[in-house]
Amino acid sequence: MEINFSKYADGLVPAVVQDSITQKVLMLGFMNEAAIAQTNATGKVTFYSRSKQRLWTKGEESGNFLLVKSILADCDNDTLLIKAEPLGPVCHTGTDTCWAETNRKEDFLTGLEEIIESRRNASPEESYVARLFQKGINKIAQKVGEEAVEVVIEAKDHDEDLFKNEAADLLFHYLILLNAKGFCLQDIVDVLAKRHEKK
Ligand code: AMP
Ligand code: ZN
Ligand code: ZN
Ligand code: ZN
Repeated sequence: MEINFSKYADGLVPAVVQDSITQKVLMLGFMNEAAIAQTNATGKVTFYSRSKQRLWTKGEESGNFLLVKSILADCDNDTLLIKAEPLGPVCHTGTDTCWAETNRKEDFLTGLEEIIESRRNASPEESYVARLFQKGINKIAQKVGEEAVEVVIEAKDHDEDLFKNEAADLLFHYLILLNAKGFCLQDIVDVLAKRHEKK
């Protein structure tokens, strides 16, 4: 990745951090070569802080590190897009993103994915999804299989409500499986969209 640091008088390239699961824009920071090197070496997003005047690993005090999933340069190599998994609220005000106000109008499935994500650390006594996560990926995949079979069975019938309910069960467990595998629905939509491009 060739990055054009010379474009900026201070040699600092803007780096946008996006949540690798929800796709929310989380924060903006600046990087020099050392920050990028440290980010690559540790897998934790590290900026050059203009206020601290030193390398700053996001989360170094709060523990809310950003675990790097991918780093992309833009079309002319002068800005970075970092997809990351946040280990806690990203903004120092305690919100999940630094643009908490503008990120609120999400579609229902994205909201549901966030609820599923939040159940990863919930108590199994209180949450069905937490119990599924606790049982592990094989159990979750098996549930998807069971719900798929129930959809097949109801497809043969003429009860529309039963069919819609089983289809909803399937979608719900499918979203849980995607999350357990570290993906979100958009990742799969991207695969479909890419296939479409080739035709
Ligand atoms: P942290 O890196 O999360 O341990 O936070 C350490 C310090 O960095 C905080 O006290 C803030 O001054 C600053 N800080 C943390 N998160 C952000 C952010 N998203 N945007 C700007 N400054 C931040
Ligand atoms: Zn650019
Ligand atoms: Zn902030
Ligand atoms: Zn079912």
